[in-house]
Amino acid sequence: VTHAARWDARIARARELAARQPVAKPILTFYAALAEFQKNLLISRGPDDVLESAESSTDRIIEAIPRFLEFLSRSAPAQLAAAAEMMRDDVATTEWRELIDRYGAGHESTDASPEMAFVVEALLQPFAEATALALKDSNRDDEPRDGATSNRIAECPLCSGKPVVGLLREEGQSARRSLICATCFTEWPWPRIVCPACGHDVFESLPVYQSEAFPAVRVEACDACKTYIKTIDLSKDPLAIAIVDELASVPLDLWAREQGYTKVKANILRM
Ligand SMILES: [Zn+2]
Ligand SMILES: [Zn+2]
Repeated sequence: VTHAARWDARIARARELAARQPVAKPILTFYAALAEFQKNLLISRGPDDVLESAESSTDRIIEAIPRFLEFLSRSAPAQLAAAAEMMRDDVATTEWRELIDRYGAGHESTDASPEMAFVVEALLQPFAEATALALKDSNRDDEPRDGATSNRIAECPLCSGKPVVGLLREEGQSARRSLICATCFTEWPWPRIVCPACGHDVFESLPVYQSEAFPAVRVEACDACKTYIKTIDLSKDPLAIAIVDELASVPLDLWAREQGYTKVKANILRM
């Protein structure tokens, strides 16, 4: 599957869910436009020069910022559109570069505004995914890392990013769980009964919540560290695309927050 085809599938899924779920329609309509922008970012100069070095993708991200902010001021929800206008005037290139480098090294910046974090993450994703896919191709024979730090906290085996959503797949009589990286979309296996944020593994304090409104989405919480991550159950909806279906189920995030849980990693739209 080419990079463009992966983006096309996300765009198509977002449009389809937007038509089905009125509550999430504005979010998904914007996401479809965003994903279109992200896809074009990668193919505008051909995928071949994407992987030269980390340096060159940073340069290409910097170069894309002005037209991305312009796109946001036209197409984003009101608050983000207004923030994009401000960022056009107020944020220096050096500031962007620093933020991109920190993100690229797997360290999310806590001092950046949510809007700046969004810009960096959105522009980084297509390059991070291309790099991850190329790495996977070239390391096919290597022993795969299991995506856990020594204290059993989940991090992407390719870019050290945090997981944004999980997946459940049927396997024989049981189901296999995996996690998906927020930055490069790499999927890696993860035990069912281990909290990805703190490594806690006591079944009784890892409750799973579900709602009839979203039969394929599970809110997998941890009462030890009070975090949660949503997991998409492919046995309930084989056509689901995890990162898109995660966005479509935003009412579950509002619910989880009301219960006092914090998300392991906010999604691209900072929810
Ligand atoms: Zn990653
Ligand atoms: Zn936990």
